[in-house]
Amino acid sequence: ARQYLARIEAANALNAYVSVDAARTLAQAAAADARLAAGERAPLLGVPIAHKDVFVTREWPSTAGSKMLAGYRSPFDATVVAKLAAAGAVCLGKTNMDEFAMGSSNENSYFGPVRNPWDHAAVPGGSSGGSAAAVAANLCVAATGTDTGGSIRQPAALTGITGIKPTYGRVSRYGMIAFASSLDQAGPMARSAADCAHVLSAIAGVDPRDSTSIDRDGEDFARHLDQPLAGADAARPLAGLRIGLPREYFGDGLSADVRAAVEQALSVYRSLGATLVDVSLPKTELSIPVYYVIAPAEASSNLSRFDGVRFGHRAAEYGDLLDMYKKSRAEGFGAEVQRRILVGAYVLSHGYYDAYYLQAQRIRRIIADDFQKAFAECDVLMGPVSPTVAWNLGEKQDDPLSMYLADVYTLSVSLAGLPGMSVPCGFGAGDRPVGLQIIGNYFDEARMLQIAHAFQ
Ligand code: GLN
Repeated sequence: ARQYLARIEAANALNAYVSVDAARTLAQAAAADARLAAGERAPLLGVPIAHKDVFVTREWPSTAGSKMLAGYRSPFDATVVAKLAAAGAVCLGKTNMDEFAMGSSNENSYFGPVRNPWDHAAVPGGSSGGSAAAVAANLCVAATGTDTGGSIRQPAALTGITGIKPTYGRVSRYGMIAFASSLDQAGPMARSAADCAHVLSAIAGVDPRDSTSIDRDGEDFARHLDQPLAGADAARPLAGLRIGLPREYFGDGLSADVRAAVEQALSVYRSLGATLVDVSLPKTELSIPVYYVIAPAEASSNLSRFDGVRFGHRAAEYGDLLDMYKKSRAEGFGAEVQRRILVGAYVLSHGYYDAYYLQAQRIRRIIADDFQKAFAECDVLMGPVSPTVAWNLGEKQDDPLSMYLADVYTLSVSLAGLPGMSVPCGFGAGDRPVGLQIIGNYFDEARMLQIAHAFQ
């Protein structure tokens, strides 16, 4: 822990962490030491990790990257935080993120942008950009992230690390500052699928405090890692695996360098025994308008709690109560968050609800059904995570639409509630990392991690 704290300080220029408290970290490390000395052995005991600042923590401030919550202290720990602490992981601090997890570049943070460790001119992706940069620069062993429309997978891809968004409901959302509740899901970010498997085993499971968490027995996600798939052998460990390639993920918008790296990875999978099959997810492009209706709608409702009374920033001067709300929210929320609240309130308003929100919900159902049709022909899906490698800081900041379009390959997985992961698969333009996306059917995380591990 001491070594990692020193590395974090030396890498200040990345802006990956927003709060570090060495005394608290070292106290947790001492507690882990005592458990080790007492003979306890567990995969994460004493392992230094970091939490995205969207998870509330008693010991560190919890800001969600917003001025609204600057300095906020939670009276309790998120379930994910409590579970990792119980597993013996040592918290190094909280990582930077796009404000309220809204963004794809980590430029929407009140605490400033994060830089990509591979190239400081590049964005790290978002919204879990701080966690991704921290793992990529070895400023922690693993980090937590959240993915509402790609925020684990896309920054993992852009920084060359491994990240998995589990099936919706696999991991408790209790204590995760809410963005879009029907989409938000927590998951691990680490250097390998094996490391992700250990973290996921620690955080998954039903939680009485989150009614959408799913009641399934605890699973050891690392149990299959070094085995061939059922029916295969060590020489061809993935024999029998059918990998579906959604046609729409390899179309016009995909840049040539990313395509080449992904195709290279697919040829490795073929040599491991897998067969590649063509499939179609015809509504892929519609996932962008559907997501950017549903997510803002839910955000506008979730963020109503930040009124300057119960939570968060309160304007120094105001007239009546309404004026206090208005000023506090205008000062506390950044531009992207305000944009989402406006869009969300609009699509939910009387007269527009049917045309936008209800219509989006219908297409969301069709998107989920399309995945089930594809899974009738294959076991997992593969494709790119992001249509391009990391872009430069500032490049898309004034053009929210082009930022939204970069989410085209991740959004539909979130809308369907499916598990998806990003596995590093080489480098594209400017020697910037490329991620391969693996999409599984519901609750197929153990096999997805096994398939990723075979490649690594
Ligand atoms: N980039 C998407 C957005 O801005 C996804 C963010 C996320 O998954 N939290 O909403």
